[in-house]
This record gives sequence, C-alpha cells and structure tokens, in this order.
Amino acid sequence: MNPRDRERYSRQILFTGIGEQGQQHLLDARVAVVGCGALGSFQAGALARAGVGFLRIIDRDYVELGNLQRQWLFDESDVEQSLPKAVAASRKIASLNSDIRVEPVAADLTPANVEDLLGGVDLIMDGTDNFETRYLINDYAVERGLPWIYGAAVGSYGIVMPVTPGASACLRCIYPDPPAGAQPTCETAGVLGPVTALIASLQVAAAMKLLCGAEPPRKITTVDVWTGEIRQIAQPGPVADCPACGRREFPYLNGERRAPVSLCGHNAVQIHERARPLELRDLAVRLAPLGTVRSNEFALRFEAPPYLLTIFPDGRAIIKGTTDVGVARSLYARYIGG
Ligand SMILES: [Zn+2]
Repeated sequence: MNPRDRERYSRQILFTGIGEQGQQHLLDARVAVVGCGALGSFQAGALARAGVGFLRIIDRDYVELGNLQRQWLFDESDVEQSLPKAVAASRKIASLNSDIRVEPVAADLTPANVEDLLGGVDLIMDGTDNFETRYLINDYAVERGLPWIYGAAVGSYGIVMPVTPGASACLRCIYPDPPAGAQPTCETAGVLGPVTALIASLQVAAAMKLLCGAEPPRKITTVDVWTGEIRQIAQPGPVADCPACGRREFPYLNGERRAPVSLCGHNAVQIHERARPLELRDLAVRLAPLGTVRSNEFALRFEAPPYLLTIFPDGRAIIKGTTDVGVARSLYARYIGG
C-alpha cells in the first residue's frame, strides 16, 4: 500500500475489523452495483470512499429532478444534462476518489448480458427496484457461488439480507417466487431518503466485512424509519428444497421471454426486447419534424405530448406518460420502428 492510500484510508485501517490487510482486500476487490438509484448511488459512493478498487455501475435510467430528494450522488447539473445515472455516478465518484476504477454501464441487466456484466466481480450489490432483476441476480449468484447483498426500500420501510451461496439462505430460500399481485412501489407509496440511506449503509457495511474475508451478519433486518422499529431475525442456512440452491433450477437466468417492465418512480414502460443498435443522430433527424428532440451521445429524448420517449443507442426505450404496455409498444413501433 502506498503512503497516499495509507493516509486516505487511515480510519478504516485503525479499525480492528479491517486493518491494513482488510484495506488491501478492499483495494483489490471488484464489485458490481446493479441499479444506481437511491440504494445504488449511496452504495457506489460509499464503496468508492472506502477504497473498493473496481466498481462497475449498471443502470438503465437517466437522472431526473424527482431523484434528487434521495439519490445522494446526483445534482441539478446531471438533471439538466439528462445524463444516464451510471455516467453521472462515475463522474461524481472520479471527483471523490480518483485512485479507483469505475466502469459505467448504461444498460438493463438481462439474461443476455448478465455474464458480461457480472462475470469477474467478487460481489454484487442490489440497488434494483424490481423483483425480476433481483431474481436474475440471485440465480446468477447462486449458480456461480458469488455473494450478493439484497436490499429494498419503499415508503419508510426497508429490508436487508446478505446472501452467501452455500453458507446462507438465498433470496429463493426465503421467497421461492416473487410476490404475486401489485406491490407498493416508490411511485405509489413514495420513499423517504433516510430509509434508503439506512438500508444502503447496512448493505455497504456487510459488503465491506465480506470483502475483508469475514462472515457478514447472518440476519434479516427490517426497519421502519417513521415508526422507529427495527427488527432482526436470524438468517437460516441454505434450504434443502430451495429451487435455486437446493434443486439448482435457474429460470430467471435462462429466461428468454421477459415482459416490458414498469419502472419505479415513473409513469412509464420500458421496451427492451427489441435490442438492436440505433444511430441516434439519424433518428434525431427523422423525429425532428414530429416533436421536440434533444439528444446527446448517451440518449435521445423525444417529446410527443403526452408522451416522452427516451431512446438509448442499444435500441432500448423508456416511454413515459403511460403504464399501458400496448400503448408503449405502438409508440415504439410508430417512432422507432417495429
Ligand atoms: Zn436458496
């Protein structure tokens, strides 16, 4: 370790649970942050400050004004530039720790790219806002024997559970299937900044302990920052008939048919099954007579009231102004092509 690192991380090195050896483990570690909203942006910033040597930040969305209430890494200039969250986060991190490597990936994590995006990391941080992606992470992590830190927050409530395949219960040991029916989301129930920071902090602490070579807390922690209640139950070991760690079935990893996903925090639908590269400059010229077009190298935004389409170079689109998948599909076909 060089003198600059020794000074920068001195308070962590003094902490007996980490020490110089633990700090070296953190510097050597490779971590993927999946989703860079309230949880993920806090995780990315905190892990960068702690000196995790490589961070891959994966997020499919761009920064909006409604994010700033709880998404700690972003500011108004990111909103004005319509920057992808992954790009805005990595720029911010470069200014707070230029000694680590950050790789922004403006994409949706899918079965098709999961190996490219999560292969070669030591740990996966859950910063997602939907069960489909969490079950994909769990399948990949259990199949590969990779640890991941589950976390979720909505309203004033949140939950944390570190998963170490083989040593602890996985997500499907506890919840074999995603919850049925409509669930409260940040869009319907809102979400408080403090609960996201608390959940993300617990996730980061578990991650640091794990990366230093120690067992993370074997607990499932739930908190409600409004009532002040904090509950913990012991996390069981792997469940023998768990579909993932027991029976080794990985339907989310093998899943070819994915429905468009409604996004947390938006009246919006994402179309991602038509993945194909698009030339945004050509598309901007084509759409200009039909509505207001704004574009940069990362995305093109096309306003055709009451809809707002954000189109990415990989062919993905987020269609705002509807939760109707059929309407979203037809707008995609009309403006981008079927
Ligand atoms: Zn399991």
